[in-house]
Amino acid sequence: MISSVTVYCSSSGKAPGSYFDEASALGSGLAERNIGLVYGGGHVGLMGRTADAVMQGGGSVRGIIPRFLEEKEVAHYGITELHVVETMHERKMLLTSWADAFVILPGGFGTLDELMEILTWKHLGHHDKPIILLNVGGFWNQLLGFFERIAGDHMVKPGYEAYYEICDSAEAVLSLIDRLNQR
Ligand code: AMP
Repeated sequence: MISSVTVYCSSSGKAPGSYFDEASALGSGLAERNIGLVYGGGHVGLMGRTADAVMQGGGSVRGIIPRFLEEKEVAHYGITELHVVETMHERKMLLTSWADAFVILPGGFGTLDELMEILTWKHLGHHDKPIILLNVGGFWNQLLGFFERIAGDHMVKPGYEAYYEICDSAEAVLSLIDRLNQR
């Protein structure tokens, strides 16, 4: 049962507007379904937009932020629970352990790092939680192409595609979560 979703996404306020629209739609849809959001605890970029949409919809948001980022004043104090931790590792541990599923929106190095970690951990059998890529505007296509290259060079085993699901929109992500919850 997916009752809590961890979202990884950009902290940039300059990302394209269509990404913000998807972040809003995802947040509203999670709130409607009474599915809690777990995320990196920032008020900035797509992160802030997703959290705001859940809060506006009357949902629950747990943010986990390391102290050094809180000190840079990027923390979101208008969420249900803000957890300030000492290290990035502690934060990532909570972000992964509190998730029933992961949704990855467009993002930069931070988002890529978080995606690679949960993919690797799935590959190693440390978890079997759904990983859903929100591929708005084909954002993830080049990375998915790079995965094919890695597999073609025999550095990842065939079948790796089963580790993740790809959805073109927040609506598709939410429908997938509904289907997974009906199983
Ligand atoms: P990025 O994609 O590089 O913008 O990094 C975003 C991801 O890394 C988020 O999912 C966060 O967990 C983490 N992160 C990076 N920068 C920040 C920030 N300024 N505030 C909060 N979390 C951040």
